[in-house]
Amino acid sequence: MVAATAQFGLNVFEGIRAYKSAHTDQLLLFRFDDHIDRLEHSCGLLDLAMPYNRPAIANAVNSVVAANSYTNDVAVRVTILIADEGSWSSMGPTDMFVAPIERPRRTRPLANGVAACVSSWERIDDRSFPPLAKVGANYINGRYAHLEAQRNGYDLPLLMNRRGTLAEGAGSCAFIYRNGVLSTPNLASSILESITRDTVLSIAAELNIEVTQREISRSELYLAEEVFLCGSAAEITPVSSIDRRQVGDGTVGEITDAIHEQYLRVVTGHADQIPDGWLTPLVPCT
Ligand code: PMP
Repeated sequence: MVAATAQFGLNVFEGIRAYKSAHTDQLLLFRFDDHIDRLEHSCGLLDLAMPYNRPAIANAVNSVVAANSYTNDVAVRVTILIADEGSWSSMGPTDMFVAPIERPRRTRPLANGVAACVSSWERIDDRSFPPLAKVGANYINGRYAHLEAQRNGYDLPLLMNRRGTLAEGAGSCAFIYRNGVLSTPNLASSILESITRDTVLSIAAELNIEVTQREISRSELYLAEEVFLCGSAAEITPVSSIDRRQVGDGTVGEITDAIHEQYLRVVTGHADQIPDGWLTPLVPCT
């Protein structure tokens, strides 16, 4: 029985990618430890029991993915949920659910970006739901914004926070490039502490692109020369218009494309310098 999870969205989860290596037939889990760190932090923020240690989670993910004998890139969802009937105040007992699905990477160069809008829905705030927790119920916020955007003819929403500055996309973080500087909302802007955002910050440093983490106003979004979203699922998603205002010249910008190129090199193990622990090869089932 998982009634509390089904009824109240009482679960925490991670979406982790595994990319086919540039050198071998192996699948490489991307930043697995960082995802499990965040899963543990989400459990802590939600007061949910976390009965699994890291080797147990790694073993579960490895065996479930390997048992499916995927030949292409994969997305794996790891969910911690209430194991019994429970209620909305249950802290346990908890169970784990591992669900992989084949999902090919978005290859570059991309011809176009997406049409985004500034949502009329506000991103969840620390005064109601901690934005740093990746909790199932939090996604109702993104759902409202996403469906509103699609109903109004846009591809995706951008959500602002309670102060009216940029938070993030529905399930992705955001970057703007303007006057030679790449900027992304800071951790107090009601964002999820995105692992891809952190990867982009590291790639930008390596490419000698100046980066800042700060508040970003709506008017700056309109003035940006380039805008892109990032996330384990979104990878690097260029934005070509916001509220029907063209971003830059409306094509995928140079900085966005350079970051996308390097991102794909990093996740497939092709880049020269990849921080230790970012790539975990999956072991085939015997
Ligand atoms: N914000 C939200 C609300 C998300 O669900 C995600 C996807 N996990 C992101 C941002 C991007 O996070 P990450 O780069 O760690 O996938």
